[in-house]
Amino acid sequence: MAKADIGIVGMSIMGSNLALNMERNGYVVAVFNRTAQRTEQFVGTRARDKNIMPAYSLEEFVELLKVPKKILLMVKAGKPVDDFIQKLVPLLEKGSIIMDGGNSHYMDTEKRCKLLEDKGIRFLGAGISGGEKGALYGPSIMVGGSREAYDEVAELLNVISARTEDGSCCAYLGEGGAGHFVKMTHNGIEYAIMQIISEAYDLLRTIAGMEISEIQQIFEQWNGGRLNSFLMEITAKLLRKIDDETGKPLVELILDKAGSKGTGKWTVQSALDLGVAVPSIAASVNARILSDYKEQRVKLVRRYGEFLRKVGVDRYIFRNVLEEAVYVAALVAYAQGLHLISVASVDFGYNTNISEVVRIWKGGCIIRSTVLNLLRKAYLSDPTLEHLFFYPEFMNEVKKGVDSLRDVIITAVNAGISLPVMGETLLYIYSLLRERLPANVIQAQRDFFGAHTFQRVDKEGIFHEEWE
Ligand code: NDP
Repeated sequence: MAKADIGIVGMSIMGSNLALNMERNGYVVAVFNRTAQRTEQFVGTRARDKNIMPAYSLEEFVELLKVPKKILLMVKAGKPVDDFIQKLVPLLEKGSIIMDGGNSHYMDTEKRCKLLEDKGIRFLGAGISGGEKGALYGPSIMVGGSREAYDEVAELLNVISARTEDGSCCAYLGEGGAGHFVKMTHNGIEYAIMQIISEAYDLLRTIAGMEISEIQQIFEQWNGGRLNSFLMEITAKLLRKIDDETGKPLVELILDKAGSKGTGKWTVQSALDLGVAVPSIAASVNARILSDYKEQRVKLVRRYGEFLRKVGVDRYIFRNVLEEAVYVAALVAYAQGLHLISVASVDFGYNTNISEVVRIWKGGCIIRSTVLNLLRKAYLSDPTLEHLFFYPEFMNEVKKGVDSLRDVIITAVNAGISLPVMGETLLYIYSLLRERLPANVIQAQRDFFGAHTFQRVDKEGIFHEEWE
């Protein structure tokens, strides 16, 4: 019997769609799932009559694979990944390749790389973005780990990934957890941009008093311009959906509690550990947490009322100013995420090529957007770029739009509406473009109560003062 080119463990949304994608591209795929029923269902329906071979034990599964064996794990991140690795290792020859395509924490990937290297198994941590459709038709694949292993699977990964005018959306981004670090940060940026769009919706609805159909049209128009992105496109589409039962826009009937699986939180935690400020991303994580306080919010409003106030705006002017504010906020969300990746790359020795990161985000992934062209240009012109703000063309865009962002925030504040991400973005810009911050006072306070010392602006050295 012909053997499979690759085996996939985990036949849920991602694993099953990736299997179909690989098969469509000419690969023979072996599949396994912890619960046999899921495998049976898959091979009996979507995978019927395809070059997809089911296995109902791991022993049977590895026997189906060509040597060197290549296995892609598409299971829930965390313990399930370790459990499968532990069970697979005794069944595999040295030189086999295990790839983890789930949303694993990069630190776990680092540990698994080392553990498996000692056992002669090559390991790759691959962040895969694009959801169900991406997995089926072409995701963005961010790979880290063994370079040698990547070279052996590069053809397969490139052929199944999305394609843009700049090539396929798959790249090797460095040793160890580099791929998962980039994927985690991708998700952090995704959180921020989703929140920015929801803030724009809130302003158009609450301040400008627009109907959902009007907001839908605006988002569609925005998507036709410089705000063109997957997230803007799907938001314009979802606003169109009418609930069959009530005849109302479905979005209005959805409870205002946003869930999360933790990658946004990881991004912020990692940024804090690395000493990188990502306030727009942090604000988007906090906004989801606050949304979850639904019961408390309802109780508080019943007791004290809301702070909402009517403010008059010219709808046409407001939507144009808002478009510029959204644009700047999105640019800065990318800037914060890419700054984090560049610092991690140095700190962890990943040596990640940031222009490659931006290139493979241009297709297949959730944060694909037109602004990535400008970002790519920036990193191609200077691969060592410390922060996008140092790229004049990028900064010109920020400078052109910053007053619009400010005006939108002033209007929102006057109306009693919180804009967590847009607000933090403006403060981030103002902080970075301020030569002297009030940290001198903090340093004096620290020295006062803890003798933490301070430096002076007028002479070299480390000083301590007896303040009282
Ligand atoms: P899920 O994250 O929902 O995980 C389900 C799969 O994991 C099933 O195969 C399930 O097996 C297996 N599993 C769960 N718990 C265990 C366990 N304790 N031991 C063994 N197997 C277990 O599936 P998805 O397809 O959504 O995602 C797979 C990975 O890809 C995840 O890491 C996810 O974060 C990531 N990802 C998901 C995206 C998405 O849009 N869904 C997008 C990008 C990445 P069983 O059927 O037996 O329960």
